[in-house]
Amino acid sequence: MDDELRIFRKTVRQFIQEQFVPHQSRWREQHRPDDEAWTSIGKAGILLPDIPEEYGGGGGTFAHETVVNEELALAGVHFGSSIQSIVGHYILSYGTEEQRRNWLPRMARGELVAAIAMTEPSAGSDLAGVKTTARREGGDYVLNGSKTFITNGWHASLVCVALKTDLRAAGLKGISLVMVEPKNLAGYRVGRTLEKVGMNGLDTCEIFFDDVRVPAANLLGAEGKGFNQMVQQLPYERLTIGVGAVAMAEQAVAITTKYVKERMAFGKPLLDFQNTRFKLAQCKTEAHIGRVFLDSCIQRFIAGQLDAVTAAMAKYWLTECQCRIVDECVQLHGGYGYMIEYPIARMWTDSRVQRIYAGTNEIMKELIGWAL
Ligand SMILES: Cc1cc2nc3c(=O)[nH]c(=O)nc-3n(C[C@H](O)[C@H](O)[C@H](O)COP(=O)(O)OP(=O)(O)OC[C@H]3O[C@@H](n4cnc5c(N)ncnc54)[C@H](O)[C@@H]3O)c2cc1C
Repeated sequence: MDDELRIFRKTVRQFIQEQFVPHQSRWREQHRPDDEAWTSIGKAGILLPDIPEEYGGGGGTFAHETVVNEELALAGVHFGSSIQSIVGHYILSYGTEEQRRNWLPRMARGELVAAIAMTEPSAGSDLAGVKTTARREGGDYVLNGSKTFITNGWHASLVCVALKTDLRAAGLKGISLVMVEPKNLAGYRVGRTLEKVGMNGLDTCEIFFDDVRVPAANLLGAEGKGFNQMVQQLPYERLTIGVGAVAMAEQAVAITTKYVKERMAFGKPLLDFQNTRFKLAQCKTEAHIGRVFLDSCIQRFIAGQLDAVTAAMAKYWLTECQCRIVDECVQLHGGYGYMIEYPIARMWTDSRVQRIYAGTNEIMKELIGWAL
């Protein structure tokens, strides 16, 4: 933290409180943010905070991205701005100068909403199962296939698609990343908006490609490099998830501490029971350990020194820690902890997926295990 980051945090907090928080119940009901949420956050200068200014970004570091994700988590708002940043970094890292200048400034303004589409019905943890293909025809690729669980899928106007360009290559070979601008694009279809148990304000959709033509110039980097590109970029996404995990764990401890001081049972506040104090002491300690580990990972990431294995450790351990803490805090709320009108109940339903997406925690343990 420094003064510049503190000022940025104040701006982000104020924006979220004024522009996003009042609309949360509607977003949850409609299973997505309002359309104009994207342009309003873009106008506020909060999108792509760690992309260079010359491409329309905020010119900050991962610390700025962290501030945005922490503030969203603290406010209990689920908004796909981190996906916008993730896709922004794919473009920054592998895009041509023309691609960067074409897409990044519009993403920063919220005029383009990005999604990343890797998962398919038969390819989740095992990306070797990707069946979506891009066949080269003259100056175009012709895409066929389907993707599922795509965050920002409903709003998306720029989709980074993992697909096979070399149909003969086995397994992870022959996977490439192709950027698709779906607006008015024949053969592109958004399927169902999927109903989730939590994070209901965030849209999660199926998408389908049926002979979709995109210019071959939309390839990101070189053909066949897609899997390596994902391996290089996934630590960013995994660390982002760790940021949300620690922020939510700290928030759960804070609101539960307040609750147990006020709620009476057997003629005294719940906090007067030793079990309550011990449980909260344990949660607070674990959240603190999580914070120290996370901060160390963030510092190393900013210095360009965070390896993929440590990022996997952060994703795995911090999300397990988050779920343990939130579950204990639900218990300390009693029946009220199960009522969706209480923030702790929403934290419980929202936190569960953290152990699943961006690579399940079992896959994280495999990554750590392979490096032993
Ligand atoms: C809300 C939400 C948002 C998402 N957003 C996106 C998105 O924007 N873009 C995108 O591309 N994807 C997205 N996903 C997909 C997500 O990344 C996948 O769900 C995840 O990678 C797991 O794949 P799967 O669901 O197919 O599970 P599977 O791969 O079928 O796994 C099922 C179980 O088997 C275990 N397993 C699998 N392989 C192994 C192994 N080798 N060793 C031990 N255990 C194993 C898994 O850990 C898991 O417990 C999202 C998912 C959700 C729920």
